[in-house]
Amino acid sequence: MSSDRTLCLYNTLSHDVEPVEPIEPGHLRFYSCGPTVYTYAHIGNFRSFLTADLIARTAAAIGWDTTFVSNITDVGHLTQDDLVDPSGEDKMTAALEREGTRFANIYDLARFYTAAFLDDWRALNLRMPDVQPRATEHVTPQIKAVEQLVEKGHAYETDQGVYFAVESFPDYGKLSGNRSAEDLEAGVREELIDDPDKRDPRDFALWKKDPDHLMQWHSPWGWGFPGWHIECSVMSAEYLGDHIDLHAGGEDLIFPHHECEIAQAESLSDDGEPFARTWVHTRFLQVEGEKMSKSKGNFFTVRDLIEPEAEGGRGVDPLALRYTLLSGQYRKPFNFTKKTLKDSARMIRRYQDAAALVEDALERGAAGDDHAPQGDDPQGALGDRLRDIYARTLDAMCDDLNTPQALAVAHEGVKLLHGMGGDLTAASAQSAQRWLEQTNALLGIVWNEHDGEAAPTDDAADDPLAEKVEALLDERAQARADGNYDRADAIRDELDAMGIEVMDSSDGTTWRKKIDV
Ligand code: AMP
Ligand code: ZN
Repeated sequence: MSSDRTLCLYNTLSHDVEPVEPIEPGHLRFYSCGPTVYTYAHIGNFRSFLTADLIARTAAAIGWDTTFVSNITDVGHLTQDDLVDPSGEDKMTAALEREGTRFANIYDLARFYTAAFLDDWRALNLRMPDVQPRATEHVTPQIKAVEQLVEKGHAYETDQGVYFAVESFPDYGKLSGNRSAEDLEAGVREELIDDPDKRDPRDFALWKKDPDHLMQWHSPWGWGFPGWHIECSVMSAEYLGDHIDLHAGGEDLIFPHHECEIAQAESLSDDGEPFARTWVHTRFLQVEGEKMSKSKGNFFTVRDLIEPEAEGGRGVDPLALRYTLLSGQYRKPFNFTKKTLKDSARMIRRYQDAAALVEDALERGAAGDDHAPQGDDPQGALGDRLRDIYARTLDAMCDDLNTPQALAVAHEGVKLLHGMGGDLTAASAQSAQRWLEQTNALLGIVWNEHDGEAAPTDDAADDPLAEKVEALLDERAQARADGNYDRADAIRDELDAMGIEVMDSSDGTTWRKKIDV
């Protein structure tokens, strides 16, 4: 399916919202900077990853093909990498020390946090990228790229490493606006400039010589490891070609990371064409109005929220967390609050209940027209109403991923379905099912597309709460069968006090946790 719509996004390079125009019409090739896998990803990281997911979903919804690459940084990211001339420790090495003997070596640590990251990715219903390349598996092409930069006069070697010569790339600064040496030096403390042979304070490391580093590779410049910026230029070129349509990441990456990526990639391709046409940056997430930080106690990893309470988490439905992150547009500052999380959990429940109504109606197969609620627009077919709602939801997404607007419009559809309740005919239910599928494909908030991919687990066996609830429900069923209604009611009260909602129907009894986060 293709439509006349086009996806408009704010381009950091042009400072304007503009239509995305893929180099190959109808095929969006894009790259989004992935995580550094030295610890669990936090909800701010996922706000940025979600932007890339929404770009992929919206592009697919307007009928484009997509090739989406998002890397895993498992080497070479230093603790001071937000500075022009980073020093400090490698984040992975620092993490290994912090974790004591938990991991036998740095590769085990990287593997563990990569797996955890991918679990979170799936839990939040983000679509899998076409390629998720790991930096450690692409060091040879990174070395080749550095060699080429040296040959072309864009890089030089010192005793400590190989540096990109910023002076050789006059466009340096075009993304961030940081052009003067003073701008670029801002924030760099003198003691961090530790290589006296650097020709220009703006120059950044492509290769660090370090025969003692825990992760090291053999190179023309001796043992060492690549700089952080080179991995993305190289892996992007490897899987998407020298020129791509779009590159995304969090706002902190504009400078120096993305500025450096542009310098490297455009010096390598050297044909005057931009590395990426559109640059998309997600504003940082804050918690209850403050910067998220461990010392303030307002720092949340995804797992802190979605793990079951029995395992130390808060038992939040991952789709509710996704809904919360969607409730602010990526380009505006976002304030994560407990209240939004709670409201989102209710909204997700409304979607799930609507989906259950539709499923029931499909099973019942009631005869009759595809019709909208009585009294609301008695002439209108539900399918037409929902088609209009979906079209407006997609319009909102094409308008610079206006997720709050998209959610508000989609909610009209949920209200419509709840308004019909048990009156859904089979014909209406089919229209409704199609709408739920389209809405889920676009926003990912009705069900998790990854469900069923992993081996199903026995919930009751894994979760002590579920075990207890099911034992009480069995006892209640027995009490009712024995005519002991006082005991049955007492058990219901006990479950209620435990925060469990019990639902009896002709098909039997089901239960769920009441929403409380
Ligand atoms: P890192 O693992 O530090 O390399 O970060 C992975 C991604 O998360 C990058 O695109 C960062 O810009 C982004 N990021 C980090 N902190 C936040 C935050 N508080 N809000 C939104 N994005 C963030
Ligand atoms: Zn990157």
